[in-house]
Amino acid sequence: MIEIVIPSTLRIGGKDYTVERNSVLAIRGLEGEHISSQCRLCITDKEDRHIDDLRATFLHEVVHAIDGIYCGGCDDAMTEVKVNGMAEGLLQFLKELGIRLIFEGEE
Ligand SMILES: [Zn+2]
Repeated sequence: MIEIVIPSTLRIGGKDYTVERNSVLAIRGLEGEHISSQCRLCITDKEDRHIDDLRATFLHEVVHAIDGIYCGGCDDAMTEVKVNGMAEGLLQFLKELGIRLIFEGEE
């Protein structure tokens, strides 16, 4: 299995996104958030979440970013159901390739 550490900055469609784990999301009942105006991908740091769920959440927010840049964004945004499906599909696809995304500090 090839492990790729999710970097703290990520270039998507020519924009430099910041990837961050934070505790504020859980307070708001969210697991992840894509803030296009600030180029931020936020993932909860809640420790009771299964790590595969967090990987899927990270990919979910990446899909939102890709959708916004390459697929029309706000005027024709993918539904949450489609974004979830795409994120899960990408996670499985990466697994099939023997690639596992890991968060910084994850063992
Ligand atoms: Zn979403």
